[in-house]
Amino acid sequence: MSNFNFRNFQKTIDNLQAAVDNHPRVSNSVVAPAKELLPFVRSFIEYHRQTTTRLSTEIDNYKKQISDLNNINELKFQKIIDKLESEPHTIQTTSATTQNNPQKPNFKTVLVKPKNNLLSPTEVKEAICNTVSTLDIKCNQVSINKTNVAFKFPNESSKNEFINRVSNDPNFNQALEAYEPTPKCPTIVLKNLDYSTNESEIVNQLIIQNDLDDLDNHIKLLFTIKKRYYFDAVLCISPHMFNKLQQRTLYLGWTACNAEETFLLGHCSNCLNFQHRTSTCPNKNNKKCKKCGLSFSTIRRDHQQSEFSTHIKNCANHKCCLCLEKNLPTDHAALSDQCPIYQKKVRFIKDRTCYDGQKEVKFFNRPLPNTPSNTHTTSPQQPQQQSRKNSHTDLTPPPKHLLTAPTSHLHRHSPSIPPNLDLSTQPYTRKFQ
Ligand SMILES: [Zn+2]
Ligand SMILES: [Zn+2]
Ligand SMILES: [Zn+2]
Repeated sequence: MSNFNFRNFQKTIDNLQAAVDNHPRVSNSVVAPAKELLPFVRSFIEYHRQTTTRLSTEIDNYKKQISDLNNINELKFQKIIDKLESEPHTIQTTSATTQNNPQKPNFKTVLVKPKNNLLSPTEVKEAICNTVSTLDIKCNQVSINKTNVAFKFPNESSKNEFINRVSNDPNFNQALEAYEPTPKCPTIVLKNLDYSTNESEIVNQLIIQNDLDDLDNHIKLLFTIKKRYYFDAVLCISPHMFNKLQQRTLYLGWTACNAEETFLLGHCSNCLNFQHRTSTCPNKNNKKCKKCGLSFSTIRRDHQQSEFSTHIKNCANHKCCLCLEKNLPTDHAALSDQCPIYQKKVRFIKDRTCYDGQKEVKFFNRPLPNTPSNTHTTSPQQPQQQSRKNSHTDLTPPPKHLLTAPTSHLHRHSPSIPPNLDLSTQPYTRKFQ
């Protein structure tokens, strides 16, 4: 069959047809089978010609698809190579990290700040851009802020080279300084801790009981939330330890718990809005119901429950007070997962939080609750460390063992808040509603 050719076949059939036509007197017993054979063979040839044409068209289509796919793959591959070359330290493998930080370019930022008010940020930018050569520094973006200029680099080497040049230039020394901003660290909550755990010992105990020596100086207690039988601790943590803590059970005193990420939204826990913080709330004796958005008094009279406590036990009417103001659908509780305004706030915080597993942030001071002089850390964006009582204490009288405990014990867990501390940044914890 290797020498089979449709044209030769066609020619043979044409010859047979001519022989039949040109020799009419040949015996009918010879001509009749030939005449019968001819149309069959012709339609057989036609059928195979069409099949061959169709198959060769299909083959061409497949070839084109393969070539297109090759091109796409090459492009993708090139993009991956480019990315790897520009960001050698940012490959993140855990699924948790990917979810937390979707496709965000991981720039290395350097801030340059004028010293002694000699220059304005605009002049700082001009001075640097006109002096520092970009021949061997790759910079993605320069932006002028209120008090400084931000330079964004694609990799460590460009960032370090830039800091070196600016810091070692004698012309710049007196007028400006370049530094890396401290990233905003993730915050976690450890829920339902037993009151036998001393607040001031939380960090130490966490490290010792869980063999987390590398956590030392990389975690800091922000505040605690008192509840009837247990309390929650809110801590901020260096980005490089965040995933390690999230993936395991932690033991703290007589409690096992998991580190859950939490977001400090900065809303007023009474009014549920973002215009002011709880510490400066003008409605201290009223609280809004997260479900229906109505306000009720939190004052208790004659050991009766407050109006607010009575209401939230029975409220079944969903009308989000935040979405109502913005003319959005209100069929959900305020600051719940279903609330688009809450979702937006959380996204905003997440976008500004550093989840880079390579980034180490050190907190200089061990947390010592209620001592504001010890609250300075490398992370100024974090709220100061503080002790906070459960915002619904009217719901939950203190546990009996606290009332009968020695004075020192009582003091340790009772909310004593220094007047100069900012109490406003509230974690969002639905449990209390
Ligand atoms: Zn308020
Ligand atoms: Zn209500
Ligand atoms: Zn809402």
